[in-house]
Amino acid sequence: MPIIVAGATKNVAKATFQVKEIPLRDYFEIKLQKSFYLLVAVLCFSLLSVSELRANDKPSVVCTTGIMADLLENIVGETVEIKPLMGPGVDPHLYKPTHKDISLLRDADIIVYHGLTLEGKLEPILDKLGARGKTVIAASEFGKKELFLAAEDYQNAFDPHLWFDPTLWGLVAENVGSKLAIALPKHSKRIKESTRSYLEKLSEVDSWTKQQVALIPENSRVLVTAHDAFRYFGRRYGMEVDGLQGVSTSADYGLRDVKNLSSKIIDRKLKAIFMESSVAAKFIESLQVAVKARGHEVAIGGTLYSDALGPEGSGADTYLGMVKHNVDTIVGGLK
Ligand SMILES: [Zn+2]
Repeated sequence: MPIIVAGATKNVAKATFQVKEIPLRDYFEIKLQKSFYLLVAVLCFSLLSVSELRANDKPSVVCTTGIMADLLENIVGETVEIKPLMGPGVDPHLYKPTHKDISLLRDADIIVYHGLTLEGKLEPILDKLGARGKTVIAASEFGKKELFLAAEDYQNAFDPHLWFDPTLWGLVAENVGSKLAIALPKHSKRIKESTRSYLEKLSEVDSWTKQQVALIPENSRVLVTAHDAFRYFGRRYGMEVDGLQGVSTSADYGLRDVKNLSSKIIDRKLKAIFMESSVAAKFIESLQVAVKARGHEVAIGGTLYSDALGPEGSGADTYLGMVKHNVDTIVGGLK
């Protein structure tokens, strides 16, 4: 029985159909040839993807924040593939993992997170993965608890925002570096070298920040922000720090907090208060309104990057860039 195959020859003006008769045997031969070519093509493609995969076969390190991704980039960037879960402007205190995050975490060779309950909603999953034998590094949990500030809103908990004291962030870098050197023995020498040179950069930014804060009149060294991210910064550089919310953005604030903070702003004649990129603007704006209602003016001195890096091209898309942006904004607003 002949099979009718209709082939269209396309023309801009009109389309004509040519009808050919092909014997059944030839038809199956053509089908078989086509299937064979298709099979060869699929095989070549899959071989190609396997060899490509082999070429980029770097261990995958999944981390939580962009701040942590930047630290990893500096100490282990060339040897692993770094995949952060949270992008710019994302608040780690409130972050809930998506289905994609869970499969990324499950497939990761190594997981690095801050710890000290910064990523409160992710920690149960990370604990589970750690218990199943995956390498899970809590970067901020390196002992030396005497260096940590207590989290005022929570019992037996510490303030997790270590990165605002570059000397503490250096200890975090050393902790992550030494654990990665164990997990990736082939690259341990390189990791140790990169960690050492990054520590030098942290020390430079620390000295620079001291010089900058000294430009603010002593009585005005008060940093009022949306939440208590900057307490380590305050301790290191001699600034009083007041957040409208506590150490976590999941804690509420009341009218009393607004009243107390307004009084302080008025008494100390502060020129500026500051927004945070990962916390809604309305909190700090409501404080500005409360100060105004009492007959005083306070400017919003700009937006600080607290718990997330800035977007690409903002100049605050690395940790060191973020520190510089924050210090410039704080000093510019208060001096
Ligand atoms: Zn925070």
